[in-house]
Amino acid sequence: MSELTREEVVAEVRTWVEENWDTEITVAEWWQRMADARYSHPLLPENAGGRGYPRPLARAVAQTMGEMNVIGPPIGLGTMLAAPTLAAHATQDQIDRLVPPMLNGQSAWCQLFSEPGAGSDLAGLQTKADRDGDEWIINGQKVWTSSGHQADMGMLIARTDTDQPKHQGISYFAFEMIQDGVDVRPLVEMTGAALFNEVFITDARVHDDNRIAETGMGWRVANTTLGEERASLGAGGTGAIGVQPGQIAGNLDRKCGEVIGPAVKARLGHSGSHKSVTDALIGISQKLGNVADPVLRQKLMKLYSLEKINGYNTQRAKAGGTRTGGEGNIAKLINAELNRQYREVGNAVIGADGMVMGSATAGEGMIQNMTLFSPAPSIYGGTDQVQRNIIGERVLGLPKEPGPAKETPFAELPKNQ
Ligand SMILES: Cc1cc2nc3c(=O)[nH]c(=O)nc-3n(C[C@H](O)[C@H](O)[C@H](O)COP(=O)(O)OP(=O)(O)OC[C@H]3O[C@@H](n4cnc5c(N)ncnc54)[C@H](O)[C@@H]3O)c2cc1C
Repeated sequence: MSELTREEVVAEVRTWVEENWDTEITVAEWWQRMADARYSHPLLPENAGGRGYPRPLARAVAQTMGEMNVIGPPIGLGTMLAAPTLAAHATQDQIDRLVPPMLNGQSAWCQLFSEPGAGSDLAGLQTKADRDGDEWIINGQKVWTSSGHQADMGMLIARTDTDQPKHQGISYFAFEMIQDGVDVRPLVEMTGAALFNEVFITDARVHDDNRIAETGMGWRVANTTLGEERASLGAGGTGAIGVQPGQIAGNLDRKCGEVIGPAVKARLGHSGSHKSVTDALIGISQKLGNVADPVLRQKLMKLYSLEKINGYNTQRAKAGGTRTGGEGNIAKLINAELNRQYREVGNAVIGADGMVMGSATAGEGMIQNMTLFSPAPSIYGGTDQVQRNIIGERVLGLPKEPGPAKETPFAELPKNQ
């Protein structure tokens, strides 16, 4: 499979879409056809419902769907993080039970990692999992849980042994969100949206069949999730039209035709065409007639170059040509910088319109929304400072940060409150 060229993959996807896309079928049926054709997540190995494509070819599948203006694969943290993590660490039985509902959009996932006292220092987490027969009883609080309010399942990391050093007493579970003892409360951001939530877990249960990897080996599994997260966030979007999967979001029974029109229009906030953010900004600048301004042109050109360089760096990392091991961290850092630059250059393009919200403003509100969201990429998936720490320690071989000995049992460590 991996010997295919990009052109061959694009041609195959085009033919498949032409034969299968139908505005009269439901979103659930479209995603089922996609999963049957193994196009929902072609990067996954064949035993997990994928095609075992290398990353650039897998991206080409979603990109082609984006160019053809059809609904892309189910979005969200299920396909992005949970599916590749399970493919790497779960048993075949777990893969067969848990991955297909992600690929056909029936199940949406969230990431139950961060806690009020454990973000950058994630291994300091205090949510507990206590064994009770064939089950585990979970107690604790998670926070910043993106799309937790729409999730059927969660990737949960919890402490199963406080006598072990902090990285060793953690286990990883596939956790059912819809059960007594799980209280999901939305957190409203300055964009006005409530993308993320805090999740209070009180005596909730997870069957041991849903423990991923050995008890106490959850940190290793979580690192696969975090690595996927960095690489995906660093790579940016594919241009595919994203529709939220799962039982709660309410899209599964809608007809594709009903969903696709507004989704195409919403893509990049205007014009409905498949463009990078820089292309979109150039388009707005052309419309406003200020694209000939030499200072603005220079800013746009610098932005275009940064976007391209990040794209090439990511492609290199994804093609498996990683030489330093830090490519994912670098891509994540550049992506955060890009988002800051989109804000700066975008506001230079629209000028005073940047002070007001609304679809009647230049760019139809896209730049204002980007401005309010722009601090987020330097925080989620590990902050800029944490990415630099990782590059410093793991790539450049600098000394580790001072702290208690790695062997100290978690129970004896000072806790973040
Ligand atoms: C939009 C968004 C979505 C998110 N979605 C999810 C999600 O779905 N699931 C989930 O589990 N989490 C999610 N997060 C949480 C995210 O991973 C954490 O916010 C992040 O890891 C930082 O943790 P913290 O907020 O606790 O900050 P802290 O760790 O308290 O950090 C505060 C500041 O101190 C700095 N700092 C901390 N430690 C060091 C150090 N050792 N060296 C140098 N500087 C340091 C940080 O860089 C930061 O500037 C999301 C966050 C955002 C913004």
